[in-house]
Amino acid sequence: MLAAGRERIADEIARCQTVYKGFGDAGKMILRLVDVLDRCAQRYGGLEKNTQLRDLALEEPKVRLAQGKSLNYGFTVSEELFLSMLQRAAEALGDKHAIVAGCLGEFRESHRCGDKQAAGKLTLEDGLDLWQSMRQKAGLAPDFTSLLFAAVLSKLYPSNAHGSQENEGLEHWQQGFCPICGQTPHYGQLYSEQGIKALECWLCGTQWNHIRLQCPFCGIREHDKMGYFSVEGREFCRVYVCHSCSQYYKVFDTREMADPAVVLSIHHLASLEYDVMAEQEGFCPGSGLSWTVEA
Ligand SMILES: [Zn+2]
Ligand SMILES: [Zn+2]
Repeated sequence: MLAAGRERIADEIARCQTVYKGFGDAGKMILRLVDVLDRCAQRYGGLEKNTQLRDLALEEPKVRLAQGKSLNYGFTVSEELFLSMLQRAAEALGDKHAIVAGCLGEFRESHRCGDKQAAGKLTLEDGLDLWQSMRQKAGLAPDFTSLLFAAVLSKLYPSNAHGSQENEGLEHWQQGFCPICGQTPHYGQLYSEQGIKALECWLCGTQWNHIRLQCPFCGIREHDKMGYFSVEGREFCRVYVCHSCSQYYKVFDTREMADPAVVLSIHHLASLEYDVMAEQEGFCPGSGLSWTVEA
């Protein structure tokens, strides 16, 4: 989610501050977060050294993708790096870091009692589990834990996991989940004159085209079961909803943008009020990432 370079993120924040209402302070906080994560990575001698790909698909990637199965690349990461990134990121985000420190301490203890062989290493699934338990137990608002974990996990995701070799089978991929890591998307964009819809993975950043009038989560294509809403005067961000599975995702209409290299994750963070509206209307995020502000 925040894996793009600092300069691109800073430029996009500046652009979003003119597009979305009230994004001033949040933009500064996001830059602070980016800097903190970069410093952690440097302190531990780089992310690539500490984070390794895991669960490499057994079948040849192209064959797997043609069968509609994601490559399901996970990673293992140094426990110390992961927990320290979470702690520093929480500090950069404000006053909840003491609660986070307590949760991380508990996690360290419970993980130490577990599998001795795995000591010192965490998997992507460990990270997702910790996110889940912190969201349920600590009384922290979902938007805080979503930003914290999505930022740290996406920063750790090995950038070489979606290298050119695996991209070969991607042009035919039309599933509602990421072909590389298997996560479900939270946002996408409409681009090109024909208005093609692309979805983007919040974790590994992969983009793929998806049928415009199809729900990525339940796969339904009945037009009367789907719709979208926006805010008057700010139709750039649309919330696509499915009345069949009651889930939603956001789509940014980037067709009018002079610069097509839009950092979608920043637009997402600048338009969280749309997420709050979607949940108030009774829709759940199909990605599983909630951005409501009440604990
Ligand atoms: Zn992905
Ligand atoms: Zn659906």
